[in-house]
Amino acid sequence: MINVTKSYLPDIEKYNSYIEKIYKSAWLTNNGSLVRELEKRLKDYLGVRNLILVSNGTIALELAYMALDLKKEVITTPFSFVATTSSLCMRNLSPKFSDIDESSFNLCPQELAKNISPNTEAILPVHVFGNPCSVEEIADIAQTHNLKVIYDAAHAFGTKYKGESILNYGDVSTLSFHATKLFHTIEGGAIITNNDELAEKIRYLINFGLVGEKIFHLGTNAKMNEFEAAMGLCVLDDIELILSERKIISDKYRSSLSGKYNLQEIMRDTEYNHSYFPIVLESEKHLMEIKEKLNKLDIFPRRYFYPSLDTLPYVLNEKVMKNSRKISESILCLPLYVGLTETEQDLIIDTLTK
Ligand SMILES: *Cc1c(COP(=O)(O)O)cnc(C)c1O
Repeated sequence: MINVTKSYLPDIEKYNSYIEKIYKSAWLTNNGSLVRELEKRLKDYLGVRNLILVSNGTIALELAYMALDLKKEVITTPFSFVATTSSLCMRNLSPKFSDIDESSFNLCPQELAKNISPNTEAILPVHVFGNPCSVEEIADIAQTHNLKVIYDAAHAFGTKYKGESILNYGDVSTLSFHATKLFHTIEGGAIITNNDELAEKIRYLINFGLVGEKIFHLGTNAKMNEFEAAMGLCVLDDIELILSERKIISDKYRSSLSGKYNLQEIMRDTEYNHSYFPIVLESEKHLMEIKEKLNKLDIFPRRYFYPSLDTLPYVLNEKVMKNSRKISESILCLPLYVGLTETEQDLIIDTLTK
């Protein structure tokens, strides 16, 4: 069976040697030495100022809203994983959708500017499939209207724009280290910010608001544990291999399928991380036909993202997000992971080009 993705598993001996260390110390969680080591190594690798490890990418988003003290309306994209919107609702914030660009699948900055209201406090764009948003235009809009910017960068680990980490844009960026993501810690995530005060506040928030033994702030529990950090340290050792193998597979899809299918247009000046390979079909009917053909061969691409989030039953939304709905109905992410063999990829490509 060929799935859309397969979790990367590092050398088991290496992982075991970390587990033995955890057993010896009997320190399992609460900012242990492996969590601290992983934070330091990720900060260096990504080239970011503050990075706080947390228990998952969804709580990372919620913590960003809490840290920035958001209370009202946030403009976001309807074309993302459900957690982008549901995290807002979980914090009692109102998501307001703005439509995407049909080629990049990211928030369209011109549309975004039109959707700002007196209640808007922040913008929550997503670097969809690791493709950088129009970060400069978004920064200009945010500055003009005095809005905060939080990037859901769950897919953007390792992506660089103009030679530096895409995570350095906005007030806060969040990552997901879920097992299915390019870099993972089984479950996990991170919050990145250039603002030291905000970083300090987030460190209290993830640990019940405790400062030493005193309770100063309202907080939650979002700590990463040592077993997860150990997995992260092992996966990080292999990150260059992960990125280069994914690039080879992704480049082959691109050269074999361009002209035959609509492909995501990657932002200029980008070192892309090849986290996903989506193709856009002519229609939902065409998509179902292709999906069925692949499924018969035990190949399982994924309708990612479907449905468009402006159809969620728990979100009030007046406007139909035309581009997002159109892309959602006709997009399919192809299998892309370390270990996908040439024969397997050839079978996928042959099926798609026949
Ligand atoms: C995976 C993902 C999340 C949620 O991350 P978890 O670690 O699974 O909680 C949020 N946003 C996007 C765009 C994602 O793909």
